[in-house]
Amino acid sequence: MKRISLVFTAFALVAAICLTQGAVAADKMTLNKVTDGVYMMENSRGSSNSTFVVTDDGVLVFDFDIRTADQVLAAIRKITNKKVRYLVSSHSAGDHATGAWHFREDKPVYIASRPQSRDLNMQEAQEFEERKESRAAYKGKDLIKPDIAFDDGMTLYFGGLTFHIKHEGQGHSTGDTTIYIPQKRVFLAGDLLDTEIHPGQGSSSNTYYSVIDGWMRLLDNIMARDLPVDTYVPGHGPVHVGRGVADLKEQKGYFIAIRDEVSKRIQEGKSLAQIRKELKKLPGVYAKYKRGSRLRNFINRTYYQLQGKRW
Ligand SMILES: [Zn+2]
Repeated sequence: MKRISLVFTAFALVAAICLTQGAVAADKMTLNKVTDGVYMMENSRGSSNSTFVVTDDGVLVFDFDIRTADQVLAAIRKITNKKVRYLVSSHSAGDHATGAWHFREDKPVYIASRPQSRDLNMQEAQEFEERKESRAAYKGKDLIKPDIAFDDGMTLYFGGLTFHIKHEGQGHSTGDTTIYIPQKRVFLAGDLLDTEIHPGQGSSSNTYYSVIDGWMRLLDNIMARDLPVDTYVPGHGPVHVGRGVADLKEQKGYFIAIRDEVSKRIQEGKSLAQIRKELKKLPGVYAKYKRGSRLRNFINRTYYQLQGKRW
């Protein structure tokens, strides 16, 4: 009897893993037009978005997940016969920087910040190799690493457009990179901006890097530039075409809301466990944010980082 239940448990476990993988493989990327020549593909599950810019000389792709970048390439092929010439990733997390392989036929140049390049040559490379063994989306594929790594930023003049590619610093991840395209009045914010969804805590191969005060500072830095931007394109969640800087303000407000709620309770002498038990929802617009389970992560991060205790 015991053996049967063990076998059954093993079977259930395998079935659960397969189901999980099936769900991941089934992520659907929906095409959204941001403005002429700029398209954001939104992940149906709230995982990473991918943006591409079509120019007369070819295509630039910002963010590519090995699990969904084939859908991005298929959408590009429908819209243009131009080749993918440049790839830029917002940060080194698997859901943003693993999918360059899908574009290999076009031989694009892959540009990333130096911290990303380091991650992709170290722990992310190792994680990719491990996942090849266990995850269908990774099997038979390779992690393509950046061709160019830059320190502070670089400007790419391509297809009549200017791409200001900037390493903003450490906020969500080890090296958050954004792209400002003045001619399109568009700013690709990567995971410094998530809309209508609780943000992730910036993992690189299961280590979490998000620094809350750093994240707020980077948002402040971007807002202080006062750029003529109609749309800030998020790393996760729907794109709000034409909403402008209000999206960045809302994102900053998210961290202020958590900080207020957590610091109030720290002063009342409450433990992390108590705070987590009490704080199930944030006030205002944030109460409706999706993926509520992620709030717990930021309660942890805020609790420790406010007190300079642990990460
Ligand atoms: Zn992400």
